[in-house]
Amino acid sequence: MNKLFGGRAATSDESFPVAHSEEEWRRRLSPEQFRVLRGHGTERAGASPLNAEHRPGTFVCAGCLRPLFASDQKFESGTGWPSFTAPLPDAVETSEDRSLWMTRTEVHCGACGGHLGHVFPDGPAPTGQRYCMNGVAMQFQPREG
Ligand SMILES: [Zn+2]
Repeated sequence: MNKLFGGRAATSDESFPVAHSEEEWRRRLSPEQFRVLRGHGTERAGASPLNAEHRPGTFVCAGCLRPLFASDQKFESGTGWPSFTAPLPDAVETSEDRSLWMTRTEVHCGACGGHLGHVFPDGPAPTGQRYCMNGVAMQFQPREG
């Protein structure tokens, strides 16, 4: 793959239903979206307007519009990143991330492989999971009606 992945093999040897060349992704995404989704980046804490998004609706992948999280799975983690207790069924995939001298569980879109964030085992009931997501990697679609 490209050097942005820094040698990580987690997603580069998989194929996803939605696949584009690096050039095509750059055209489709903003520079910040590209840095996070395709380059495994992390947005600045508190940067995303989705932190304050509390309307009913669905959070979808900014890369391919796959529905990822429902608004009723969102909770206030206080981290500065949109946080969820669970994803929608079959929406995301995970892989082990050993960057930054620690082992974390990386979360990516199940359709395009775009990096979304990480999941930690310190979330609230009922799942005990905290899906810590980059807001720039998602778009919010308010429920209609
Ligand atoms: Zn996607």
